[in-house]
Parts: sequence; C-alpha cells; structure tokens
Amino acid sequence: MQNITVLGSTGSIGKSTLDVVARHPDRYRIIALTANRQDELLFEQCRQFRPHFAVLLDEAAAERLRKRIAATGLDVEVSCGNDALVKVATLPEVDAVMAAIVGAAGMRPTLAAAEAGKKVLLANKETLVLAGHLFMDAVRRSGAVLLPIDSEHNAIFQSLPHDYAGNMMSSGVSKILLTASGGPFRNTPAPELQNVTPEQACAHPNWSMGRKISVDSASMMNKGLEVIEAHWLFNAAADDIQVVVHPQSVIHSMVQYVDGSVIAQLGNPDMRTPIAYALAWPERIVSGVAPLDLFAIAKLDFVAPDLDRFPCLTLAYQALRAGGTVPALLNAANEVAVDAFLNRRIAFLDIPRLIASVMEAVPRAEVRRLQDVLDADAAARIAAQAWVGQNTK
Ligand code: NAD
Ligand code: MG
Repeated sequence: MQNITVLGSTGSIGKSTLDVVARHPDRYRIIALTANRQDELLFEQCRQFRPHFAVLLDEAAAERLRKRIAATGLDVEVSCGNDALVKVATLPEVDAVMAAIVGAAGMRPTLAAAEAGKKVLLANKETLVLAGHLFMDAVRRSGAVLLPIDSEHNAIFQSLPHDYAGNMMSSGVSKILLTASGGPFRNTPAPELQNVTPEQACAHPNWSMGRKISVDSASMMNKGLEVIEAHWLFNAAADDIQVVVHPQSVIHSMVQYVDGSVIAQLGNPDMRTPIAYALAWPERIVSGVAPLDLFAIAKLDFVAPDLDRFPCLTLAYQALRAGGTVPALLNAANEVAVDAFLNRRIAFLDIPRLIASVMEAVPRAEVRRLQDVLDADAAARIAAQAWVGQNTK
C-alpha cells in the first residue's frame, strides 16, 4: 500500500490522478488533497477518498470546507496556506507526492517533497525551469525517486536505458527528440495570430488541460519549458534536445541512439497513462486509457517547428543557454503574460514581446540558493506587470 499526497488535486492532472487511484484501492491510499480555492470539488474528493488532510490556499475557502466537513462527520483535518502545503508534502507517513500545482506557486511544496526524500511524481514543470539545479541536487542528496509525469518526459524516461544515470554519451544516446502537437494555432497564418482569443487558445486539438498550460501550448512556450525540463531531468545540453512537431500526439517523444536506433513511446493522448506508469513504476497497472488503434490513426506526420510564428520556443532556448536566473525570468514573465492574455489585457502576440522585454530588462544572476530564484521571480513579475500596464489593449 502506497500513501499519497496529491498537490493540486482539483486540477486537470489532479483529477486524472484520482481517477487512476480509484481503480486501485488495494494499492494506493490518499493521505492529503490540496487546492487553491475550489472547496466544493475538494469536498467531493474528500468524501470519495477520505484523506487525513485537506489544504486550501485560500482562507475563506478553507473555512467553508471545514464547516462542510464538520457537518458530514468526516475525519479530515482542514488547513490553509503555503506552510500547510509543505507539511502535507513531507509527512512521514507519505510515500509519494503528485506535484500538480500549476506555476511557480508549486515550487515550495514540490522542492520540500524532494528534500524529504519522497517519491516525487513531477507534473509541475515550472519547478525545474525555476530551480532545476537546486531541485535535482535535493533529489540526489535525499535519495528521492523522481518520476516525470509530463507526457514527453515520461516517454523519454521510458525510452532511455532503465539504468540511465544522466550521461547521454556513455549510454549511447545521441539526441532527445521532444515531440510537440503544434497546438491549436499550428496552421494559423501569422497575421491572424494577433487577434486570437483566450477561448481559441484554450481549445487544444488533442489534450484537455488547465488554462495556463493550454495557452503555453498555443504559444509553444510549453515546449520551451519542456526543453528546459528535459535538460534538468536527463542532463541533456540544449543542442541535444530537438523539438519535432507531430500533430497527431501519438508518439509522446523519442530517444535517438548512436547506432541509428530511435526508441519511442506511443499511446493515446491521455495523461492517465504517464500517471499510472509513475504511480506503479517499475510495475504496470491499468489506467483506464483505451488501447491505441493504429488503423484508425493510419499515419504519423512530422515537421520542424516554425520559429518565426512561435518565438517563445527560441526565447526558452536562449534562457536555457544563458542559465543562472534567466529561466526563472522567462517563467515569471510568461506567467504574468498568460494571465494578462486570459484576462484580455494583452494580445496573444504580446506574450513573447513581454517575455523578451523582461529578459532584457532584468539582469541575470547566478543561482546559489533558493532566495536567488525567488528574487529573480519577483523582479521579473514587477517588470512584467509594468509592461502590461504600458501595453494594455
Ligand atoms: P490546472 O490549472 O488544471 O490545476 C492546477 C491545480 O493547482 C488546481 O488544483 C489548483 O487548485 C491548484 N493551484 C493553482 N494555483 C495554486 C496556488 N497558487 N497555490 C496552491 N494551489 C494552486 O493545471 P493542470 O493542467 O492540472 O497542470 C498542473 C501542472 O501540471 C502544471 O505545472 C502543468 O504544466 C503540468 N502539466 C499538465 C498537463 C496536463 O495535461 N494538464 C500535462 C503535463 C504537465
Ligand atoms: Mg507535455
């Protein structure tokens, strides 16, 4: 029996995780569930999974949940705030932590789970973008087991040698081929991108996801963040990670070897596959995902990314190469830009403009401790908000 904390249980990844867990009550027990402010859904999840702890970031939402829990006689301790998130990510009785909070907000509890030596099921890619070095150091020091949930990285993990220890050359790996769907605007002509709406950006052709990552997919910043994520997870240089646009999203990524072999992982685009893989690793369990119907798919296409229409990808490679706090600046600027776009304050094409301007305006620093990252994140958010203020539609 594995005891599990789900950080961000009311989100897209959180719900998919609970869907897989519910299929295996003999293997997994939920110890803690957390959310930002969706107390109603969290209450329903508490009723179904009977965790010991429920955490909401928002105090008023926590108070509402506390009242409902008391009225139903459930034995769930409700708390609120960031310290409570860290606490449920590090409880001694917890074996595995699903890190599925969106954005930099997920960094503290995710890092804490790694420091506490938990099995970390990592969906929150922003933690690696912000503080990849510190996070990977924490994993090594504590002996935490790190399993990537992001479908591409889960596919790469499955396609690498099982004893891969972070040295591509000695493992005979020549390249990581990171696939991208191209998002909802893959074929949208450049002039039309200026006026696309949040609704269009969030209507992903293959994947159903939270709003932030949906916009990231539309701008291809998601792929940029994933290049940085792959760099830290697999110790791969920027030049060794190649983005391949593959519109069907059937191949989730590939590893190319020096002998000419390419190993890929395929499956329907449903996050329950990587979630089930990580939960049960090194075993395999049923996930609820339908078998892949190759005859229905019939063909697989591959094209190079269009860097002119999707400059976010170039910005992410630049940030990775610059190193230090620059990826943290990129991430913070992107979070502010996506939020402003979703709130119709800036246009879609302003997203890369804003990010480039912040990366230029805020000086790069080395990352020696967490505070360096937090300072960079804060400075970038101030610069980004100022940019939004000057460029609001
Ligand atoms: P989502 O928006 O659907 O859910 C986010 C969850 O985090 C919710 O439970 C929300 O309540 C919680 N949350 C939001 N802000 C918070 C805050 N400030 N403090 C505490 N909790 C907060 O997002 P998602 O699509 O499930 O994505 C979660 C993470 O997984 C992201 O980092 C994303 O990049 C990554 N990811 C998602 C997918 C996917 O298919 N959805 C695929 C790969 C990676
Ligand atoms: Mg992905």
